[in-house]
Amino acid sequence: MKILVINAGSSSLKYQLFDMETETVLAKGLCERIGIDGHLKHTPLVEGKTVYDEDIALPTHAEAITAVIDKLVSPEHGVVSSMSEIDAVGHRVLHGLDKFSGSVLVNDDVMAAIQEAVPFGPLHNPANMTGIRACQKVMGDDVPQVAVFDTAFHQTMPAKAYMYAIPYEYYEKDSIRRYGFHGTSHRYVGGRVAEIMGVPEKDLKVISCHMGNGSSIAAIDGGKCVDTSMGFTPLVGLPMGTRCGDLDPAIMQFIMNKYDLSIDEMMNILNKKSGVLGISGVSSDFRDLDKGASEGNERCALALDMFHYWVAKVVGSYAAAMNGVDAIVFTAGVGENSIATRKAICEYFGYLGVDFDDEANKCRGKEQLISTPDSKVKVYVVPTNEELVIARDTRDIVSGK
Ligand code: AMP
Repeated sequence: MKILVINAGSSSLKYQLFDMETETVLAKGLCERIGIDGHLKHTPLVEGKTVYDEDIALPTHAEAITAVIDKLVSPEHGVVSSMSEIDAVGHRVLHGLDKFSGSVLVNDDVMAAIQEAVPFGPLHNPANMTGIRACQKVMGDDVPQVAVFDTAFHQTMPAKAYMYAIPYEYYEKDSIRRYGFHGTSHRYVGGRVAEIMGVPEKDLKVISCHMGNGSSIAAIDGGKCVDTSMGFTPLVGLPMGTRCGDLDPAIMQFIMNKYDLSIDEMMNILNKKSGVLGISGVSSDFRDLDKGASEGNERCALALDMFHYWVAKVVGSYAAAMNGVDAIVFTAGVGENSIATRKAICEYFGYLGVDFDDEANKCRGKEQLISTPDSKVKVYVVPTNEELVIARDTRDIVSGK
C-alpha cells in the first residue's frame, strides 16, 4: 500500500510518499510560494532517480498537487508508475476542537467540523482544508483522504487539566479550554520510547519534550496524554523561538495602554517578536543563541537559561501530576540536536534520580539513551516522525483496522 502524506500551509505544501509494506519513504518534497509564483523541490529516495528543484507556476494548491503527482510518476524523478498506485492520502490538520480524539476518513461532516474549528486555528485549518480539497479535485473521489489532528492525542486530558479558571460559560458557550498541539509528535515519541524500553505503554509514565521552533511538553500516563503545556492556542507554555509562552494577561493591558497598541499589534508581538528572539534580541534559532552565549552575549545566555528553566519546571510539574515519571524524552529540532540544551535541562533532574550520561548525550538526530542504563528515570533522544504516524493512521483507517 502506498500512502501520500500532506502537510498543507497557506502558501506551502510538504509531502512524503510512503510504501507501507516496509514503512519507508519513497519520495518527499516541498511546494513553496503557492499563490505567489511557485517553487517545487522533489526528492526521490530510490536509486537512479534525480532531484527536481525548480521554479514552477503554482497559482493554487490544486496546481501544486498536480505538480507533485506529475513528479511522483515521472520517468526521471518518479517512484511510482501511475497515480493509481497511490492508495490514500493522509493530511495533517491542526485543530479538531473536542470533536476528534483520533484520525478520521474525510467526508462532508468532517470538512464541516474542520471548518467550525477555523476560528481556533485561523492560519492552519483553512490551509489544511485547501490541501484536502486540492487532493479530492486532482485525485478524484475514489482515493480516500484521512485527517490526522494535532489536537487529537490531547483529548484524553481530564477536565482539571484542560479547564481555565474563568467563568464556566466561556467553556460551555465558546469552547474555551486547553486543547494542546504537537499531539502527533508526542504520540509517536511516547509510543516509540515504550518500544525502545521494551515496556508496554500502559505501564509507563513518560514526559515528552517537543523542542523546536515551537515547543511543548506532554505528560503521558499509560499511553494517554494527561496534560500538556500548549493551551487554547500554541502561544503558551514554554518560551519558544518567537512566541512568549506563559504570561500574566494583565501585561497585555499595560503595554497596550502605554504604547497605544491594538490587540492585533499586541498579538503580533507575542507571536512573532517574543520568546528567545525577544529576550536575546539576536535570533530565534538556538544555534545562534549558543554561538552568542559562547561569545559572551548575556542576553543570549539569559534566553537559553530561561528556556532550560521552563522546561525543567514543566517537567517537574508533570512528574508531580503523574505521581512519578519513568522516562523523559527530547525530540524536534532543538531536542534532537542541541547537546548543550539537553545537558543544561538535565542538570535540574538530580532530585528525580536522573543519572545523566555526558558521553551518550554527544549525539544528534538519532535514538539514544542519554542517561546511564541504571538511571532511576531514563532520558532519551527520539527523533520525531509525525509523517509516519499520519501514514499509519491512514493505512489503518482505509484498511478498516
Ligand atoms: P523544528 O521546529 O523542530 O524544525 O526545529 C527548528 C529549530 O531547531 C531551529 O530553529 C533551531 O533552533 C533548532 N536546531 C536545529 N539544529 C540545531 C543544533 N544543531 N543545535 C541547536 N539547535 C538546533
